[in-house]
Amino acid sequence: MALSKAQLARQLRGHLELLAAGGVRELPVATRSQPTRKPAPKRQAPPRMAAPAVPTAGFKAVVVPSCALAELNTFQGDAARTLEPLAEQVRVCARCRLCETRTQTVFGTGNPRSPLMIVGEAPGGDEDTKGVPFVGRAGKLLTDIIEKGMKYRREHVYIANVLKCRPPNNRNPEQDEIDACRGYLQQQIDLINPKVILAVGLFPAQWLTGQKLPIGKLRGQVYEVNGRKVIATYHPAYLLRNYTVETRKKVHEDVLLAVGILGSGPLINE
Ligand code: SF4
Repeated sequence: MALSKAQLARQLRGHLELLAAGGVRELPVATRSQPTRKPAPKRQAPPRMAAPAVPTAGFKAVVVPSCALAELNTFQGDAARTLEPLAEQVRVCARCRLCETRTQTVFGTGNPRSPLMIVGEAPGGDEDTKGVPFVGRAGKLLTDIIEKGMKYRREHVYIANVLKCRPPNNRNPEQDEIDACRGYLQQQIDLINPKVILAVGLFPAQWLTGQKLPIGKLRGQVYEVNGRKVIATYHPAYLLRNYTVETRKKVHEDVLLAVGILGSGPLINE
């Protein structure tokens, strides 16, 4: 399907923002040399910018087909089309060391028109194998939180992580990995444009609120960030390890803050 000028402009802007986030300040410009014997062309071709490439840091990336691209292909509309080039950049990304140990990248899943985005920390073992965020035990609990606690359908929500590649042995993300991956999540948020973002776990909560506080201090309130509402709560994996009435009650209170903003009923009218 041919893209409109507006769609192309949005994609180009996304590429340039990503390059800027990676520290690229200049792009080479290719100019056409004039043929010596032929008459000058009637119209001078505009200078062409080199195709944007994801900056690499000298790592040997594992690159395989992307589940996210296959899923996006099933959606109609601008939101899905504008996410595709970003998913492709992530698929081949070699901006941090995690590209060498991943099975595949885990870009995100769900409806790209959703008013609710859930952001977790990083893929775990199951996610790394399947290429989809929140598919293991923690993922099942997240589905219960969405469907039983919030009374929404999981496929109506867009779900992504701060990091798109699994840290080995599920260790915590390093700051340089978070910084390297930052532009991808920021662009996902900009393109999906959700009304509410639910940050599950410490790293997404700190990423999204910009506050370096413990999760227990960040949860339980609504933050206004760039015109969106951000709510933080515990990660489902933490909840599984601390499956107490008190922790469950806190998570329930947090997700109801999101429901209070979004309203009850379907998130997407199909
Ligand atoms: S974690 Fe992010 S920055 Fe690092 S290689 Fe994966 S996609 Fe690239």
